[in-house]
Amino acid sequence: MPGPLKTEAIVLRSIRYGEADRILHVYTLHHGRLAAIAKGVRRARSRFGARLEPFFHVRAVLHEGRGDLLTVTGVDTIATHGALRDHAATLDAAARACDAVSRLFETTEPHPEVFRLLANELALLSSDALQARPANGLAFRMKLLLAAGIVPQLGACAACGESEHLSGFSAAAGGVVCTSCEAAAFPLDVECYRFLLGALARPLAQAPDASERALRQAERAIAEMAEYHAHVRLRPLLQAA
Ligand SMILES: [Zn+2]
Repeated sequence: MPGPLKTEAIVLRSIRYGEADRILHVYTLHHGRLAAIAKGVRRARSRFGARLEPFFHVRAVLHEGRGDLLTVTGVDTIATHGALRDHAATLDAAARACDAVSRLFETTEPHPEVFRLLANELALLSSDALQARPANGLAFRMKLLLAAGIVPQLGACAACGESEHLSGFSAAAGGVVCTSCEAAAFPLDVECYRFLLGALARPLAQAPDASERALRQAERAIAEMAEYHAHVRLRPLLQAA
């Protein structure tokens, strides 16, 4: 019988279950995404109280039970990111960030860098509501693609290696493409190209801004990479607007 698993975790989703329980999807520092049941957590006198809400960053103790579901036996709060709940925009941005992590990193394969990236993003959105903008959300997703090993090639044409006249994007080719290779590509403006480069190069808090046209192209490039290379459909950021 393996011992309990003690880990830092971020609550991605919390689903009501039965009379008083919750099923949690958490993203952990060293164990990827896990599902766990928190028994009795919805009772007024639960010792976990309200410590297992979405976006909470906790130190959790999890026990293996039957099947895939772990049981939560201990929780310490590291950060609640309470201010996220003050604005619809930050709440929505945080939910989309958690959803993107959940979809791109759905196994127990460890990605500590993804955990830290999500923790940073939630802290950033919580401390500065102005960060709840599409450019930040797209920069976050670019960094997730990098961690997933499917970041688009930006330095040269992904089809032929040409480094000039990069004017299109093709997920099938794996990144930006030049004018002679853009048959199956969609047009990508220089502004979008600069945005994608800047999103990778800069910390999240300094994600570059760009026009809506460029951001829409960036979103399309990111969405097509996730779909083509990871078979993951990300929730729209801008397309929904
Ligand atoms: Zn080319």
